[in-house]
Order: sequence, then structure tokens, then C-alpha cells
Amino acid sequence: CGIVGYIGEKEVAPILIEGLSKLEYRGYDSAGVAIFDQDEIKVRKFKGRISILEENLQKETIKGTLGIGHTRWATHGEPSDRNSHPHTNCSGSIALIHNGIIENYMKLKEWLIEVNGDHFQSETDSEVIAHLIDYFYDGDLLDAVYKAIDKMEGAYAIGVICKDEPDKIVAVRKDSPLIVGLGENENFIASDIPALLKYTRDIYLIENDEVVLLTKEGVKIFNELRQEVKRDVFKVTWDA
Ligand code: GLU
Repeated sequence: CGIVGYIGEKEVAPILIEGLSKLEYRGYDSAGVAIFDQDEIKVRKFKGRISILEENLQKETIKGTLGIGHTRWATHGEPSDRNSHPHTNCSGSIALIHNGIIENYMKLKEWLIEVNGDHFQSETDSEVIAHLIDYFYDGDLLDAVYKAIDKMEGAYAIGVICKDEPDKIVAVRKDSPLIVGLGENENFIASDIPALLKYTRDIYLIENDEVVLLTKEGVKIFNELRQEVKRDVFKVTWDA
């Protein structure tokens, strides 16, 4: 029920853990991260408290400067390690975090099994999004995400990373909260401002149906029609 993502130059694991901890108030039953380590996306996710995830990450020190993290409030599929986010496509080249509900996930899942022979690891609605993005992927993550959301019904804030494009995060907001945090050679996504206050007070408030492309150097926001939109920076003046 909380999402966070980071792209920059710092070690990402502690930033994700800090952000997820600040989103605990939203409630959750599991927590997980996907981190770019060398040229591989490593996913670690566990049912239970964020501290379980944190202890596991400390044990094996996953290193990287790009990652996404999630706390889950289960809606489709029981709380379990397997159903926790991030979710991936079959090959593990795409990792995704999702808050919300995909109403037509069953139809999409059956379709992906039929046309693509996909195998699914979890009972969640969210995993279907990772497979759907992979189905449309042809070398351009932003384009694949646009094609996937065109097929999706429901509410979602998602964050996506892709092994073949190790310099970006793509995020989308539709009826679930999403903000962007702006830094110096680093940028963030999160469900809510407290997750980022330790790092930045410069925020973009993302609106419904907007798609965000984050790199280390900058953030671009696009509307439904794939046109870039300008956003004023919102300065946070309060403390958490
Ligand atoms: N519907 C998704 C699931 O059950 C996401 C739940 C959430 O927003 O945490 O995994």
C-alpha cells in the first residue's frame, strides 16, 4: 500500500527502506524491493514487517543506485512471499510495484496465457501488469507502459524498471496516489511526501492518467496523449 523508487548515485537499499518505513501508517502485510545490482535486477520480498526485509538485505548487501520498493496491502491473493511485490515478467527483465486494483486482471491473464504462453508466479492482479508490459516491450519501456495501461481497467500507481534500460524508472498514476521528489543527480517516486522528506522538499504532484519518466538527471511528465506537460515544483515547508 506504499510505493517508493530511487534513481541516482547513492546506495539505494537504505533509501527504499527509509521511504517504506515512513509509509507504514498506510498499513501493510508484506514488503519488498527490486534493485539493479550490476546488470541484474534482484528482487527480495517477504511477508511481514519491513524489518524482515531490512535484515535480509543487510545479510547479503545488494548494491545498486536504482531501485523500487513496495509495502503491500493484499487485495488479490493471500499475504505471502510469493504474492509480495515487486513482481516480474517470466524472464525477470521487468520489475514492477503496484498500489491499487486491476479490475480486468483475470481477462488479461487468460489472454496472456493463450497468446503468449505466460506462466504466473503469484495470485495477484499486479503480476499481470509486469507480463503485459513485457508483451508490448520492443526496446522502449515508456512505449510499452503506455500500451499496457491502455488495456488496464482499475486503480493503480505503478513503478517499473527494465533490465535493458538501466537508466530509468517509469511510473503511472491512476486513482492511486503518486508523487515525484526532485534532487541533485537523483530523483524519487513515492506514494506520499513523508517518504521523501529526508532527501528532498521539492515535489511534483502527479495527476491522474499521467506517466512519469525518471532518470538521474531529470523528470518528464506526460499526459494520456503522450504529450509532455509542465509542472510547478511544490515546496514542502512542513516537517513530518
Ligand atoms: N492489488 C495488489 C495486490 O493485492 C496491490 C495491493 C496494494 O495496493 O498494496 O497485490
